[in-house]
Amino acid sequence: MPAVEPDNILLLPRLREPDQSLRTKEVLVRTQAPRFLEGAGFPVRRPFPSRDIPFAMSDPFLLLDHMGAVEYAPGEAKGAPWHPHRGFETVTYIVDGAFRHRDSHGGGGLITNGATQWMTAGSGLLHDEMPPDDLVKRGGLFHGVQLWVNLPRKLKMVPPRYQSIESDQVQLLTSADGSAVIRLIAGELEGFRGPGLTRTPITYAHVSLPPGSQLRLLWPQGFNAVVYALAGEGVVGEDVPITEGEAIVLGAGDVLGIQAARIQSAKTPRLEVLLLGGSPLREPVFSYGPFVMNTRAEILQAIEDFQSGKMGHIPAAGLLGDDPR
Ligand code: MN
Repeated sequence: MPAVEPDNILLLPRLREPDQSLRTKEVLVRTQAPRFLEGAGFPVRRPFPSRDIPFAMSDPFLLLDHMGAVEYAPGEAKGAPWHPHRGFETVTYIVDGAFRHRDSHGGGGLITNGATQWMTAGSGLLHDEMPPDDLVKRGGLFHGVQLWVNLPRKLKMVPPRYQSIESDQVQLLTSADGSAVIRLIAGELEGFRGPGLTRTPITYAHVSLPPGSQLRLLWPQGFNAVVYALAGEGVVGEDVPITEGEAIVLGAGDVLGIQAARIQSAKTPRLEVLLLGGSPLREPVFSYGPFVMNTRAEILQAIEDFQSGKMGHIPAAGLLGDDPR
């Protein structure tokens, strides 16, 4: 898994071992992510929104799509061609391979191994999310996630903004025993900060735990907490098993506890998890496809604005193949 790896894990800043008297967070829900076809027909696993994890539980996170890991055959890789968004942020983290992004504001680029693109759709734009042409032609490994982060009512119509977070900008940390690699993409953990600029308080991290590794970390107060397994096997909380494609929602307690199983498969030798937490917005959500607003009237307005071109137009170059850019 070529997401960013430290040269020497022992040189990373270490999280403190939380006081033993602090309570480990309890598990509220464990669920296997249902599978869907997204965009032009690429397979995703979507732990939420789902029957087991409704929005009220993941708020302010609207959706998580796990893409791959998949070894595409030549001609097989697909993406999500030109479509609009309004009212929230899409956060695309690529673990293996590459995803190409272009948008109606002239932005674009390649998101590759360990990099994140944080796109605030805000008032609206059109974008195109596709595997690069050479991945389509030759096939290859692809593995990534897209997270949708809601915007509060007062920020839904902010101008679009992009953050390209390269893999070497991510804040690397290790557990108190120096065994786990924590990649803090955004938000705060025990005083350390990730590079992603967030509109409301959230924490987003990718953690790799080698066999038998144990992580106990003090979770920000007032944040909800979701653990999603990208690969491998382990235990969350005191004793709840987790494996690839499963999500666990945590409840009361101070410390987020995760342990990797002592035996992992040869193909995925570590437990790889995403940690997601945030302050719930607790606002009404009215969503329709790629638009997420607070009311039905705002959704109708979004559809009208998109149809009348107010969210932008597909650039002429966008109708061709790969940009030279
Ligand atoms: Mn999109």
